[in-house]
Amino acid sequence: MKTPARVLADQVNQIQKSGRFSPRSASLPTWCPGCGYFGIHQGLNDCISSLEIPLTQIVTVSGIGCAGRYPFFSNTYGLHTVHGRALPAATGVKLGNPNLTVFAVGGDGDGLAIGGGHLPHIARRNINVNYLLFDNSIYGLTKGQPSPSSPMGTKTKASPYGTVDKPLNATLMALAYGASFVARLFAGDPKGITEALIEGVRNPGFSIFHIYTTCVTFDKNFKTWAHLKEWTHALPQDYDPTDLGRAFNEVLKDDFSLGVIFKRDA
Ligand code: SF4
Ligand code: MG
Repeated sequence: MKTPARVLADQVNQIQKSGRFSPRSASLPTWCPGCGYFGIHQGLNDCISSLEIPLTQIVTVSGIGCAGRYPFFSNTYGLHTVHGRALPAATGVKLGNPNLTVFAVGGDGDGLAIGGGHLPHIARRNINVNYLLFDNSIYGLTKGQPSPSSPMGTKTKASPYGTVDKPLNATLMALAYGASFVARLFAGDPKGITEALIEGVRNPGFSIFHIYTTCVTFDKNFKTWAHLKEWTHALPQDYDPTDLGRAFNEVLKDDFSLGVIFKRDA
């Protein structure tokens, strides 16, 4: 016999399948007009709609930052955690109920600075979580400081003479840490994001989606729409994403080739 909670969940799922529920929540995104995050939001919403997984079976987990607000703008269950801790919280959600589809979202400051120590461990444990790393190479929410993925020489109010540290490459890190599925994407291509997400969600194990995006308010020089459109391009036609050696070579020689960089069935 079904429990009352199960009956309610079935009713919600039926309503959702009838099209009355959408992955977009009633809370409209509060990101700045023109922010790249709108493209990622579109890509993830279209993925969720295509997968036809009931919204009651999906959880979106975030840390802190402009990307941290994401769960408010999604009709899935959500968890807005503390700075840098989206991945351990998402791990807990997935272990608590392995039937859930779990998305973790966060920016480059959240995921590569204070949260950078969590990426190797979720990858080596191969937790079946889908991590969207919104990489605009800047701290947006705190008004434009350099992040671990800012290129050397980045000038901001917090680094008026230019940064002196080398940037981190999240795609390369994910390969080195042994992630099962690694894609590099662009916020200006929501369709490409949707396609990679669908493939990555279906691939068992930890999937990371390293998404180049813009902060139109605080970065007028580096990851602008014009630059990212000019620099990014598809992977070579004969590219084989199951070849880890080729994946390393590709990422070491080209920062801006986009698509599924690596995948394995693990
Ligand atoms: Fe987007 Fe930058 Fe505005 Fe944050 S501050 S919402 S990253 S444009
Ligand atoms: Mg950022």
